[in-house]
Amino acid sequence: MTTTTHYLDPALTPEGRGFATSPHGAFIGGTAEESGESTIDSIDPSTGRVITQIAESDHDTVDRAVRSSLEAFKGDWGNLTPGKRESALHRFADLIEQNTAELAAYDALEGGKPVSHVEAIDVPLAVEQFRYYAGWPTKLAGDVIPVDTPNSHVYNRKVPLGVVGAITPWNFPLCQAAIKIAPALAAGNTVVLKPSELTSLSSLRLAELAIEAGLPAGTVNVVTGTGAGAGNALVSHPDVAKISFTGSERVGRILGADAGRNLKHISLELGGKNPHIIFADADIERAATAAATTAFFYSGQVCFSGSRLMVERPALDQVLDIVSRYARTLVIGPGLDRSSTMGPLASQQHRDKVESYLNRIDGTEAKVAVGGSRIDREGYFLEPTVVVGPSDTDEVVTDEIFGPVLSVQVFDSVDEVLPRVNDSRYGLTAGVWTNDVRKAHNVAHQLQSGLVWVNTYADYHAAAPFGGFKGSGIGKDCGYEGLSKYLESQTIWMSLA
Ligand code: NAD
Repeated sequence: MTTTTHYLDPALTPEGRGFATSPHGAFIGGTAEESGESTIDSIDPSTGRVITQIAESDHDTVDRAVRSSLEAFKGDWGNLTPGKRESALHRFADLIEQNTAELAAYDALEGGKPVSHVEAIDVPLAVEQFRYYAGWPTKLAGDVIPVDTPNSHVYNRKVPLGVVGAITPWNFPLCQAAIKIAPALAAGNTVVLKPSELTSLSSLRLAELAIEAGLPAGTVNVVTGTGAGAGNALVSHPDVAKISFTGSERVGRILGADAGRNLKHISLELGGKNPHIIFADADIERAATAAATTAFFYSGQVCFSGSRLMVERPALDQVLDIVSRYARTLVIGPGLDRSSTMGPLASQQHRDKVESYLNRIDGTEAKVAVGGSRIDREGYFLEPTVVVGPSDTDEVVTDEIFGPVLSVQVFDSVDEVLPRVNDSRYGLTAGVWTNDVRKAHNVAHQLQSGLVWVNTYADYHAAAPFGGFKGSGIGKDCGYEGLSKYLESQTIWMSLA
C-alpha cells in the first residue's frame, strides 16, 4: 500500500471550481436558489476541509418544489407525447456524457471516490440509465383482457403516478439520481430529488443539465439538506405520490412504516452483507482478484460489496495470498488525485464507525492479516483490511460495515456453506465461482440473494433488474421491473351491449 499526500484538483475547470465552492440552495422550477440562512457544510473527506455550504431546505422550500413538479406533471412534461419524451431523455443523456469530467469531479470531491473510477464507472452508468429508459415511453402498452361477461371490452392502461420523491445515498450520488430519475420520467412522472447531505453537488448540476436538455421547468427539482429536515418534509408531503428510496436498512424501515401509514407507493433499495463464495475448482486467480477488487472498490462503501468472502478449504491459502497482496498494492489518496486507487471514508462520522468495528476485532478469535488501522494523515482514511477466521456470529461477518474490511472464512462443502450464508438479515447480492456448471446453478438457485453473479462480480446494466431480498429492500431497479414501480395500472371496463 502506498499513500499520496498532495491535494490535486486538475479535474475541475475554473467554472467547476466556482460551482463547487459556491453556496447552494434548492433547484426549483428551473432556478438555482440562494442557500439562505440555514445551511450545512459540505466537507471534503480527503482533507476534512469545508468545500461550501448547502441549504437545509425547510418545509416551505420542499412544498414549493413539490408544487412546481406537480404543475410540470399536469402540464408541460405530463402532456409530452411518448416520442418527445424519448428525445428529451436522449438529449439529457448526451449532456451528462458531455459533462463527464465536471460531474465526476464533484462526486470525487464530496465523496472521496477516486475520480478515475467515477469517470469510468459512475457517469457511464448514469448515461446508460437515460439511454435505456429513453426507449420505453414509446413501448408502454396496456393489455386487452378477456373476460366472461358478454359484450364487454376490458383493457388496461399504464399511467404515471405523479410526483416522485427520490431520496439518494452518498455512495453513488450521480448514478443513484439517474437510476431514479430516468425510469420515473420515462413513465411520465416528475421528480423532486433529495440527495444525501454529504454529496449534493452533482445532483444540483444534473438539475441544471435537465433544463439545458430542454426538459420543462419543474420536471426535475432538487431540494438539499438532511434526512430529518428536507427528507422528512418530502416524505410527508401529501402531493408526493411515491417515495423511491436508496439508503440504509434502518432508514428504509422508518420510511416503509411512514408509507404504510399514508398509503404512499414506496420502493426501498437497502444495504447488504454479500457473500462471495469461491469453490476450489474455480479459476482461483480470477476469482480472488475479483473478490479483492470489488471488496475494496470505493473503500468498501458499496451496497453490493462482496465483503464476506467464503473460500473452500483447498483454495484458502492461494486466495488469501492474492487478496492480501491486492490490498497492499492499493494507492491510497484523495478522490481528485488521479493516481489514487482507494480514497477516504466519506465522512468523519462514518470513518469513526468503521474504525470502531476494527477496534473490536481484537476481542474475537479472528486475525487481522492486512491493515486494521487509521492512516495518519488529514482526511478520513483507513487501511484496506483483511480479517481472517471470524466466526459466523462475529459482527465483521453479520454487519454491513460499509468500509474497506474484507472478512475471509473457510468452508468444506456446498451443504455447509449455503445455510451459513443464507442465515443473514440481508439478501442483496452474492458471488459464486466454480467451473462446475451444475453446482453453479444449484448454488445460485438456493442463495437468498436478489442478484447472483457466477464467475464474475459487480457487473451491472440498466436492463438487468437489481435489488434485494429480505432486509435488502423491496422492489427492483433497472429493466421493466424498475420502470413498473413508477407506473399504475388502470382498468377500463366498457359495455358494448
Ligand atoms: P442513509 O439511510 O443514512 O441515507 C440515505 C438518504 O436518506 C440520505 O439522503 C439521507 O439524508 C436520507 N434520510 C435519512 N433519514 C431520513 C428520514 N428520516 N426521512 C427521509 N430521508 C432520510 O444511507 P447512507 O448512509 O446515505 O447510504 C448508505 C446505505 O445505502 C448503505 O446501507 C448502502 O448499502 C445503501 N445503498 C443501497 C443501494 C442499493 O441499490 N440497494 C445502493 C447504494 C447504497
